[in-house]
Amino acid sequence: MAFNESRNTKNPSSFRKKFFVIIVMLLLLLSITSLMKLNVFSHKAKASQKTQVISVSKINLTTTKKPLITTYNGKTQKVVYLTFDDGVSPKYEKEILNILEKNNIKATFFVIGSTLKEHPQYIKNLLQMGEYVGMHSMTHDYKHLYIEGQYTEEMLQEQKILKGITGKTIHLTRPPYGSKPGITLEERNQLAAAGLKMWDWTIDSYDWNLPHNPKQIINNVLKHAKANVEVVLMHEKKQTVEALPSIINGLKAKGYTFKVYNEDQHFPLNFWHDGRL
Ligand SMILES: [Zn+2]
Repeated sequence: MAFNESRNTKNPSSFRKKFFVIIVMLLLLLSITSLMKLNVFSHKAKASQKTQVISVSKINLTTTKKPLITTYNGKTQKVVYLTFDDGVSPKYEKEILNILEKNNIKATFFVIGSTLKEHPQYIKNLLQMGEYVGMHSMTHDYKHLYIEGQYTEEMLQEQKILKGITGKTIHLTRPPYGSKPGITLEERNQLAAAGLKMWDWTIDSYDWNLPHNPKQIINNVLKHAKANVEVVLMHEKKQTVEALPSIINGLKAKGYTFKVYNEDQHFPLNFWHDGRL
């Protein structure tokens, strides 16, 4: 009896309470899902923004900030570092090395790790000739390196392979597509902790995008060679081989001497101006 009574009297108010709680929870759920949707969308936007960056390696040269290095070893002198990315390409190696040798120049090569097993002799040859060999990642894959944050991991993997071939521990990396905006602060912290270095460039030759236009490649380099220290980005390509002699002559005429990267004389050269790298 008392039970029935209490049911009859308490039920309406507890029902109203329950109804109210359900409404509040529904509202909460709605707002949470809409927030989540927003978040997902912004992530997607960020990802697509980043992937677009691949095509942005066509950045206008004038937007690339050049590091201001006006002295070198205490003296003001014009120094240029020629760098060649994306080897191993035995096809063009010989020709590039021949041109360099004729001009008594040493250069810096950034090779892709996945090609090393096939061509260990290539690396040995480069070192014998006095060139520097640096890491250019295992996959050269933008998404894996920058969106999935595997830059340091891949470079360490390549460092190991290169050590197996050369017996040397190499520290300099060259970021595929450049370090900006792909490399995050977290990634830079990891790189610094691993003792690795990272070099971008001061002059982009755009050789990769000019397969039948060595003249434009020559022009891209010579027109922008002004600072006391320049680091020229090139690739192991046919058109680069064709452009190289004139690039060298033009740089000589502008008073540049040619240097190969040396770990003992490292200086930071990255688009983030991170002095640790
Ligand atoms: Zn590359």
